Amino acid sequence: MQSNDIFALGLGLTAPWKLVEQQLDTTKSPHRLDLRIAADRGSLYPCPECGKSCKAHDFKEMTWRHLNFFQHHCYITAPVPRTNCPEHGIKRIVVPWASEVSHFTLLFEQVAMTMLREMPVAVAARHMEVTDKRLWRVVFHYVGKAMARLDLRNLKALALDETKSRRRHKYVTIFIDLDRRERPVVFATPGKGRDTLQRFTQFLQEHGGNPDNVLEVVSDMSGAFISSIKTHFKNSELTVDWFHVVQLFTKAVEEVRRAEAKEIAMPKTTRWVVLKNADGDLTNRQFDALVELAALDFHTATAWRVKEALRWIRKAPTEQGAKWRLSNFLNYARELIGQEPILAPVRKAINTVEKHRQAIVARWRSDHSNARLEGLNSLFQAAKARARGYRKDLSFITIIYLIGAPIQDLLVST
Ligand SMILES: [Zn+2]
Repeated sequence: MQSNDIFALGLGLTAPWKLVEQQLDTTKSPHRLDLRIAADRGSLYPCPECGKSCKAHDFKEMTWRHLNFFQHHCYITAPVPRTNCPEHGIKRIVVPWASEVSHFTLLFEQVAMTMLREMPVAVAARHMEVTDKRLWRVVFHYVGKAMARLDLRNLKALALDETKSRRRHKYVTIFIDLDRRERPVVFATPGKGRDTLQRFTQFLQEHGGNPDNVLEVVSDMSGAFISSIKTHFKNSELTVDWFHVVQLFTKAVEEVRRAEAKEIAMPKTTRWVVLKNADGDLTNRQFDALVELAALDFHTATAWRVKEALRWIRKAPTEQGAKWRLSNFLNYARELIGQEPILAPVRKAINTVEKHRQAIVARWRSDHSNARLEGLNSLFQAAKARARGYRKDLSFITIIYLIGAPIQDLLVST
């Protein structure tokens, strides 16, 4: 094998193209390896429209960044012709090694996208010794194209949830297909509430789906979502995931604990204990704190007992049983907290659950497990870490798609 062949590897060189020159410049730091590709004089090139072999009209010298060759930055330069087709006129051809979107070679982009499945953009950029801004452009392009190909004809059940975006006080709403076991994310959009549903409905229709075929929508208990779900998915049953009920009470307990800690000294481990479940893995110290908390009659302990009673509902074997347990829970919880002002967050959670009791209980009828919803949170965290350094919603959403959407065929060039 000649050295020319080694350099040409992975370039996708096909006739009439060949490697004609190579030059290593060691005066630059890092060293720069330049490869020159050209075709013989008088060669014919395919018209980009019809593929007919045509004469070159003129040439333009173009340069692409290729994969590093050992530690040397590698560049490829070639005179790229415009063909003069009798039918389509004068057009610039696309050379086989070149990306249409960046000044990288295709192989460079492929390696970049493979790395980006595993690591943050900033880290991949450092490895490949390019700016992360240029790499982001590649990511946006491939993920955007793959998402455009997404087929949503079979979407019948979906869940939506919002998460804080990288910008302060801003949210991103994510839609997942409950029938997909792996990579369930089908859409993500900035904001939370009504207009996100509007945008998703449009996206769904553009991808072959029909909102009338959606039979179940799982949501949290935020008013904005709930009021417009019926408008957009008129055949759907709205259900609230149990996970959101638990989350609501966990937050309420934490609010009570914080308020109470300002007034009175509490056992140090309380913070961790109230966030845990009683039958979880408590350490001895945590267990002692819990006992102390209950014995001293802290309000935090009362709030915690309300939250713990939720498990009894969750264990109901049937929808009917769940309905009955939920009613009992609401009475029990109200009695337990009484009129105590510091327990207001728990009272609010109780009222929210009462308002949505029907949607909560409907979950017992659903075939869809909530495991995927609970898994979303770790997806959000991973996407945030990967997109770090970039505050734009588009970056965050693109990474959510990259790791959570069914787009494995990312490098298909269409
Ligand atoms: Zn043509």
